[in-house]
Amino acid sequence: MTIIEIITKKKDKKELTYEEIDYVIKSYLESKVTDYQMSALLMAITINGMTEQETFALTKIMLESGEQIDLHDLGNVVDKHSTGGIGDKTTLVLAPLVASCNVNVAKMSGRGLGFTGGTIDKLESIKNFDVAMDIEKFKEQVKKIHVAIVGQMGNLVPADKKIYALRDVTGTVESIPLIASSIMSKKLASGAKSIVIDVKVGSGALMKNMEDAQKLASLLVKIGNQYNRKTVCFITNMDEPLGLAIGNSLEVIESIETLKGKGPKDLEELVIKLATYMVSMGKGITTEEAKKEVEENLSNNKAYEKFEELVKEQNGEINNIEVSNRIFSVRSISEGYINKINAMRLGEIVRDIGAGRQNKEDEINYKVGVVLNKKVGDYVKKDEELIKVYLDKVDVKIRDILECFTIEQELKEKEILIKEIIE
Ligand code: URA
Repeated sequence: MTIIEIITKKKDKKELTYEEIDYVIKSYLESKVTDYQMSALLMAITINGMTEQETFALTKIMLESGEQIDLHDLGNVVDKHSTGGIGDKTTLVLAPLVASCNVNVAKMSGRGLGFTGGTIDKLESIKNFDVAMDIEKFKEQVKKIHVAIVGQMGNLVPADKKIYALRDVTGTVESIPLIASSIMSKKLASGAKSIVIDVKVGSGALMKNMEDAQKLASLLVKIGNQYNRKTVCFITNMDEPLGLAIGNSLEVIESIETLKGKGPKDLEELVIKLATYMVSMGKGITTEEAKKEVEENLSNNKAYEKFEELVKEQNGEINNIEVSNRIFSVRSISEGYINKINAMRLGEIVRDIGAGRQNKEDEINYKVGVVLNKKVGDYVKKDEELIKVYLDKVDVKIRDILECFTIEQELKEKEILIKEIIE
């Protein structure tokens, strides 16, 4: 078999065998298949798709390309993943909240690239927060305080690392089978027994419509079940940013407020629902029982105390989160209902003022970002504040920010936040 035959087969919409996929991935890791050949195959897959059998095979081969963490001695560990969205800081709230209910959360997170932020970058806006540790220390911490959040460690799924970097620059990120195998190979290698995945749908998400989001969610659940990992997928709205804050330090501050029971309504609603499933799966109790525990720990400060413990354990200084003091308000130039906030565009603006990266090696400015004063469905008067912008070294055009808001005389029906739960 040759790589050219395999590319041609996929170009001709034929199903690849396990052996063919195995050959491609192994040869690519050994650099016997070149980047341009792999790009051609990835593009053929993006256009022509993959069958379930092909996707299962790709996931297994990627999973077995590197180390796999064994968390058996920690009992029923739960993990959570989000396909990424603007202002998505749920992990920062969820991990300590679920841990405060005595469920083990062993979370490996990534950095942001493009318009979405990464949990690790957000945590690093807390001075001295240590996101690097070895597997033994990681497990020890979960045993001790029920929670650890770290960056990628060990040699987990090297095939995904190499392929994802190539997809990012070849327009092949938005392929459902490639996304499913990429996410699930990493989740399976991370060792948790129960997995909750938040599939975002909408203008600020990878999945732009419900049909694609449902396809991805059912594929993720099927792969998880094959490996005996209880997997639940949420499909949630990403037509507007989640919560009010976008930008690293500002999102940590909003997460702290949410952990104290004073967060924005949409973020709180999502966190409670996700945590309910994680606690229910982790403890083997009903969702009603789990919800009660989750709500209690949000209102009695236990969730926040767990966050403090987590930050302390990872050497962070919780009282040392810096926010820029170069702040200005963008005010509305018209009056009416806010029917749309362009999440993706706002995410790009926040990235460009320094909160995110264009390239992997770019430095992040943790202090900058925006905080919305209005959400979709709200009424705004002329001259009333729409959003606060926290700038540092890079300026922004007010017109670019105003264009993110669609203000109309008639109120349109608002998208619901949690659209579907697939188990
Ligand atoms: N997140 C991942 O981990 N992989 C993808 O392919 C897309 C989103």
